[in-house]
Amino acid sequence: MKESEYDAGDTMPEDDPNGNTNAAPGPNRWGKSHAGAQELQKMYAELKWKRRSEVFGVVAAISMFSVQGFILLSGLNLDVWWHIAVALFLGALAADFISGLVHWGADTWGSVEGVIGKGFIRSFREHHVDPVAITRHDFIECNGDNFLVTVPFLLTALYLQLTGDSSVVIQWRSHIWFLFSLGIYVAMTNQIHKWSHTWSSLPGWVEFLQRTHIILPRWHHKKHHISPHACNYCITIGFMNYPLELINFWTGLEWIITKLTGHIPRSDDMKWAEKTIHSE
Ligand SMILES: [Zn+2]
Ligand SMILES: [Zn+2]
Repeated sequence: MKESEYDAGDTMPEDDPNGNTNAAPGPNRWGKSHAGAQELQKMYAELKWKRRSEVFGVVAAISMFSVQGFILLSGLNLDVWWHIAVALFLGALAADFISGLVHWGADTWGSVEGVIGKGFIRSFREHHVDPVAITRHDFIECNGDNFLVTVPFLLTALYLQLTGDSSVVIQWRSHIWFLFSLGIYVAMTNQIHKWSHTWSSLPGWVEFLQRTHIILPRWHHKKHHISPHACNYCITIGFMNYPLELINFWTGLEWIITKLTGHIPRSDDMKWAEKTIHSE
């Protein structure tokens, strides 16, 4: 699968090469005209509390990341640069795995009912029936949830750093760099995901980061959007997808959960995908 195959102007064509869900031929089966996508988008506009929590998350997290970054850079010791490099890499890997776990969980189980469903799972359903809706979302809608999640961890880390013994803080420097990398990558995951759906007008430095797998490459994430959306869940750097797909990690987890609970994976996701068929 080559990147150039999918460069169709502003966005990648969100077709369904497997035809698992929408058997009708023709382009644009997914998109903003999809009946399910319209319903899901309307739901977001009605959630006033959701928007407020996203604004709070972005403002609080950026403030704390700035303080944390200042503390780390002012105590920077380049003699241990490789400790820092390893810590940054492991932080990125951990964030990638967490992104996969959360993405898989929200794609595979649950529904858009209730507070969690409307506030959180809704955006995952929307993303499959209108994958480029994310490119129309502003910074707050795109990143609010992820920034918010980092707030309690940033608060704890800052409290321990500012009140702890300085010799202990120095001793734990690599761990703090790991947590900083983890936090930045978790916070930026959906922005990185948005860039992976943007096929024109990306800054050169973003394309460089994609090409080098420092962030999720476009061609790599394209595979997740082939129906039934059941692989390549990791969307931060995408690196963890290689070992996890090799051992069928997600399929194995689904098998165990279905055995234990009887729930069918992706049944709610499929329901939203099929809305286009019924509405046409
Ligand atoms: Zn997905
Ligand atoms: Zn996507």
